[in-house]
This record gives sequence, structure tokens and C-alpha cells, in this order.
Amino acid sequence: MKKRNTILLLGVAAIAILIIAQIIIIRGIWKQNHEMLDLRYRLLSQEAVSTIRRQRSIDVYDTVRFILDNYSQKVSKELPGIKDEKLLEEKKKEIMEYFTMVLNKEQDLSDYLSAYFERMGVDKEFNHRIEIVHLEIIGVDTFPVYQNEFFTRRRPTDQRGPGQGAVTGISPALPEPVDTRTSNILVERRGLEDNYYFLFFEYYIDFTDKRMMVLRASFASLAMSIFSLLVVVILFRITYRNLMEERRLSNLKTDFINNMTHELKTPLATITVAGKTLEMQMIRTDEAKVLETAKMIGKQSVHLNQLINMILEISMWERTEYQLDKKKVNIEDLMNDIVSSFKVGPGNNASLSQKYSFNGIEADIDLIYFTTMINNLLSNAVKYSDKDPVINVEGIISDNKICISVADNGIGISRADQKHIFDKFYRASSGNIHKYKGLGLGLYYVRKIAEAHGGDVSVNSKPGKGSIFTVTLPY
Ligand code: ADP
Repeated sequence: MKKRNTILLLGVAAIAILIIAQIIIIRGIWKQNHEMLDLRYRLLSQEAVSTIRRQRSIDVYDTVRFILDNYSQKVSKELPGIKDEKLLEEKKKEIMEYFTMVLNKEQDLSDYLSAYFERMGVDKEFNHRIEIVHLEIIGVDTFPVYQNEFFTRRRPTDQRGPGQGAVTGISPALPEPVDTRTSNILVERRGLEDNYYFLFFEYYIDFTDKRMMVLRASFASLAMSIFSLLVVVILFRITYRNLMEERRLSNLKTDFINNMTHELKTPLATITVAGKTLEMQMIRTDEAKVLETAKMIGKQSVHLNQLINMILEISMWERTEYQLDKKKVNIEDLMNDIVSSFKVGPGNNASLSQKYSFNGIEADIDLIYFTTMINNLLSNAVKYSDKDPVINVEGIISDNKICISVADNGIGISRADQKHIFDKFYRASSGNIHKYKGLGLGLYYVRKIAEAHGGDVSVNSKPGKGSIFTVTLPY
């Protein structure tokens, strides 16, 4: 049990480590694909921006600049007059909102980019977002309206073109790391400067299905990783199950040897005692006693012989296929014979009834094996009973098949045991404690014989309520 738990634990731990390693690898691939996609679109966008610049005389921000300069001229006059801090802050906020709105609405870059992407045969559906990183209103004095962290770190005034109306270029290096959590791609950082303002902003594009695009790019590695994990899990499951099955079989074999020893010892002990009895002078003179003891020895020897034959048969059946010696027999007559013989023999204390509707059909059957099969079922019905056994044997033809059922009022079989009772050496838990003698082979033979005839056997049982075994043979 301890060893079994250790194997299970080690296996689960190994699989868990493997899953973690795969997750790390997949995350790396995901991030890499993300970066590649960003880079691709960023390069494409930059290429597009410079193509637009080269080909068109107008700047994509012409309208923006005109509107913003007019607006800035107006506010540059208002700003020096605002002394109250709070009002000034509110004004700055209003200016920022206006600039952002105009930039986002009036620029033509998005249209050009979309057309360029379409020409290049890549996805052209994207949203854009412009974020101001620095804004100054220039009047008599310069009013800083907004400045974000990036701008402070990397003040781009050196890129400012000389004179009025200069447009600063795209920032040559884009130092920000790619943010794989958002779907934004930074296309350009740009400065605009006119008479009344100086502005620096960032232009982002956002593919709504960027995750999908990355997923598509990572699909092969993802699929391979999941597949290999699945294979490992399945292999582990199979190996573990085989191991457990082997252990179960080995335990069953040990049980079988114990039971067998017990079974062999009983007749042997009786024979030994009988032998000792015969040695006694006073018994030898009593002829009736001698006869009785001799009969007992004979009976036990037959029993011993049967047991030994059974062991020999098991190994023979294991090695060779069942060689059936089939003959056409009237199934109803045969059943009547078997049940009647059982009634006067081992089943003499049972109340046995039989009912057949075979319509006189004949079937190809090996008489000896078939008889053994039915006898095994009948013996079990008597053996596994804690009250006076009542056994009903029925036979019908259904779907061109012969169905023979043996129903008893015995101790019944639990659902868990029902799955295994037809296995070799299997004995239901109560069977192991020698209350009911046996070797766990009776039902194994029943199944083997039924299968050798091309049929099958099934059980329907409830603990305490009895069992019904049904043999189905093709007809
Ligand atoms: P054995 O009788 O030698 O133990 P079998 O292969 O005939 O072996 O039966 C396997 C197990 O199935 C038995 O140990 C017993 O627990 C259970 N079993 C078989 N037939 C019956 C029955 N009619 N009623 C209850 N339990 C049964």
C-alpha cells in the first residue's frame, strides 16, 4: 500500500513538474510571438508612415495642426489671466481633453495605415488611440499643460526641428518593452510644434483579435505540447493500471494456493485418519466398519483426484485453446438431464424448479463442457446460500439465441465483486475466509466455456436478495 502510494505520488509529481515546464515554455513562445507580431506591425506601420510622407505633399496631421493652433492661440491669451490654482488645473484638463479629442478625430494616419495594410495583405481592422505625453501652450510665456513620466525620462527637445511649424520625426528607438497584457502596438512617437503650442504624443494601434493572431501563431507548439502531455498522462495511467493489475493477480494467486492447500488437506487428512483406523485391531474384526472406512477412503481419493485433475486442467486450458467436441443435441432434453442429476446429487437439499421454452431446437454443443458449466452454476447457487436454497432454472430462445438462467435466493454479490467474479481465482471477499469453500475457478470456467461456444455469461445480483446468472449461446 505504502509502495503503491509512493509510485502514485512520484508519478503525479513528475507530471505536475512536466506541466509547469510546458507552461513556462508555452508562455515564452506566446511572449515571443506577441513581440514578433508587435514588431511586424510596428515595422509595417513605420514603413507605411515613411511611404505616406514620401508620396504625399500633405502631412496626415495638417488639419489637426490648423485646429490646434487656432485653439492654442485663444487659450494662450486666457491662461495668464487665471490666477486661481484650481481653475488653472481645470483649464489644463480641458485643454488636454480638447487636444486628445482633436488628435484622435482629425488625423488621417489611421486611414492611410489601413489602406497600406490592406495593400500589404495583412489585417487592416484596428482601432487607434493617441496619447499625449507632453503639451505646452506657447504665448508670451510657455505654459506646461501636461508632462508624463516617459517624456521626463527621455526629453525629446533635441529632436525639435528648427523654427516654427517644425514637425519632429518618429522617435528612432522605441524603448518601451512590449506589453503582452494589452493589445496595443506603439506605432510612432511624434512631436508637433506650431506658433502657439508644442506637443508630443504616442500613436497606438490596437487589433481587437490580436490574441487570436498570436494564438494562431502559437497553435502548433501549443497543440504539440498538449499532445505530448496527454501521451505522458495516458502512458502513466496504463503503466500504473498494469502494475496494480499485476499486483492484484499475484494476490489472487496467493489466495488460490492457500485455498488449494486447504482443499487438498481436507481429503488427505480424512484418508490419513481412515488409514490409522484400519490399523486398529478391534476395527479390523468389524467387517462393516472396515467397509465403511474403505468407502470413505475411496470417496476422498476420488475427491482428491478430482482436485488434482482440476489443477492440471487449469494449466492445460491456459496453454491450449478449448477443443470443443460439438454435437447436435436437443437442448431441452440435455438441460432436463443435467438438472435432474443435480437434484438427486449435490442439490438434494435444494428446492429446484425448471421451465424451458426451447421449442425442441437442437444446438451444437460440447456435452462435457456444457454440463460442467451448468453444474458450476447450480453448485454455486446451493453453496452461496444462507437459507434453504430455492433455485429456478429457465430457458428461452431470444433474438436467435439460447438463454439459460439460473436464479437463486442466496447471499447475493456486491456490485464491486460482480465486475470480477468471472476472473480467474477471484473469490468475493466473504469467499476468502473459508466460510464457503472454493478456488475461484467455477465462474471462470463458466465464462470460458460460454465464450468457447461463441456465447457469453452475465450476472444480475443484489446482496442478500439472490443472484441470476444468464448464459447466452448462439443458436
Ligand atoms: P468459488 O465458488 O470457487 O469461490 P467461483 O468462480 O465459482 O469460485 O465464484 C467466484 C465468486 O463468486 C465466489 O467466491 C462467490 O463469492 C461468488 N459467487 C458465485 N456464485 C454465486 C452465487 N450464486 N451467489 C453468491 N455469490 C456467488
